[in-house]
Amino acid sequence: MNEVNYNAEGTLFNIQRYSIHDGPGIRTIPFFKGCPLSCQWCSNPESQRLKPELMFNKIRCVHCGKCTDACPRQAIAFTHPYFVDREKCNQCGECADVCPTHALEMKGTRMSVAQVIDALKKEETLFRRAGGGVTLSGGEPLTQPEFARELLKACKDKGWHTAIETTAYAPKRVIKEIFPFIDVALTDIKAINPFIHKRYTGVDNRIILENLLRIAQITQLVVRVPVIPGVNDNIEEIHAITEFAKLLHGVDTLHLLAYHTYGENKYALLGRIYPMRETALVSEEKMEQLKAEVEAQGFHCQIGG
Ligand code: SF4
Ligand code: SF4
Repeated sequence: MNEVNYNAEGTLFNIQRYSIHDGPGIRTIPFFKGCPLSCQWCSNPESQRLKPELMFNKIRCVHCGKCTDACPRQAIAFTHPYFVDREKCNQCGECADVCPTHALEMKGTRMSVAQVIDALKKEETLFRRAGGGVTLSGGEPLTQPEFARELLKACKDKGWHTAIETTAYAPKRVIKEIFPFIDVALTDIKAINPFIHKRYTGVDNRIILENLLRIAQITQLVVRVPVIPGVNDNIEEIHAITEFAKLLHGVDTLHLLAYHTYGENKYALLGRIYPMRETALVSEEKMEQLKAEVEAQGFHCQIGG
């Protein structure tokens, strides 16, 4: 049995229950803060930065003024176009502490492995009866490698099924330390063309592709392709992805996930601009064409998670 450091700490921004799309059965998902990529279509922008971050939902605001009094940096003003001046704000969270309606909210909480396991235990019976388990997601769980590893070890000690949603962007050492404690890894392949990948995600894809080859040797790998207009919604890029996927041990199915805008409103809550505004959705016809290309390359193909 592996000794677990239950005092290891990390930052999560949510623990979601009853998910059915992120691994087998019914899953509970600790969402990790921090991601080395900055995908322009990211639907969890509150996950991207490692530190806790202030969100403002103006629909909930009752204009009581408690936050303006509490802010030590005079970063909040009713006359400011975004209410919070993000240049002045240092994310101290004092405004969120006094806001009576949770219009202001800090996303991100430091937690120990022991505290997360306590929260996950509530679903233990469900894990056993419904064949579910725990899926680490984010953000990128591998940006907090010690916390992720100890949490996974603790789950394994309890006999729970473990999964991870990962970009696979991490040092080789981290992959080798963490993946032996993971039953299923779910990953996105966004593009094979290195220029396209760097332009739309901010990072080179060489490390990712090398790591996927490693991960497929260690655990079960599920490959998903987010189909993004102007990035990879063409036969050439999808063909290149299938050529690479042929090298991945045990992978015989690709999932095509159509671009969506579910996370767009969160950019406004964070005082940011959504990078892909005015981007049209992918048509059903286009998705079927890309599916046919994947199948022509010898894979099963499923549209959706
Ligand atoms: S997080 Fe701190 S600095 Fe930022 S607006 Fe709130 S009180 Fe002011
Ligand atoms: S404390 Fe909350 S409800 Fe009151 S003005 Fe600030 S954001 Fe609005």
